Amino acid sequence: MAEQHDEHTHEHQEPAEPVQVIGEEPDLSKGTARPITVVGNPVLHRECKTVTEFDGELSALIDDMFVSMYAAEGVGLAANQIGVDAKVFVYDCPDDQNVRHIGHVVNPVVEELPVDRRTLDDGNEGCLSVPGAYAELPRPDFAVVTGQDKDGNPVRVEGTGFFARCLQHETDHLNGYLYIDRLSKRDRKDALRQMNEGTPRYATVPND
Ligand SMILES: [Zn+2]
Repeated sequence: MAEQHDEHTHEHQEPAEPVQVIGEEPDLSKGTARPITVVGNPVLHRECKTVTEFDGELSALIDDMFVSMYAAEGVGLAANQIGVDAKVFVYDCPDDQNVRHIGHVVNPVVEELPVDRRTLDDGNEGCLSVPGAYAELPRPDFAVVTGQDKDGNPVRVEGTGFFARCLQHETDHLNGYLYIDRLSKRDRKDALRQMNEGTPRYATVPND
């Protein structure tokens, strides 16, 4: 997912100091930044493969994903956004209470919410794979994702507010969907127009 965005100023705002950090900051010396795939690249538009090998290669992929996410100033990144067909995402994202969440999920599934937790939040959303575009998209303001960690142990991650949006956005990626696929035809067209009018601030993979 793209950085948190202020739709009124269109300027990057430094987030406030987090009140708490959940998760560990990755060792960035281990990874390499890779260019980001953009809308139209087939790897973004089909379901990724389930991860079955919890080995050094997966660990190295996660290292590269963190470095790539920070290089592009994102708050979340799915493996297919660096061209890898595998169900993994990473995140470093604030929630509603300004708690900073850092981590990764392998083979994520978004849990069905009980009816009383289905409150829609119509915040702004952006995506590193749709550079420079933002659109309002209602999503539940609470999300639970289950999956595995890089060693294959079960994990369960809960999020509120912007982090709930991030968890849903990244899981969508791995199922072959971009947030613009959830927009009306008109809003989708507008997002693509915003993208085409700008130049990404980070390296992207050119589409054929
Ligand atoms: Zn995205």
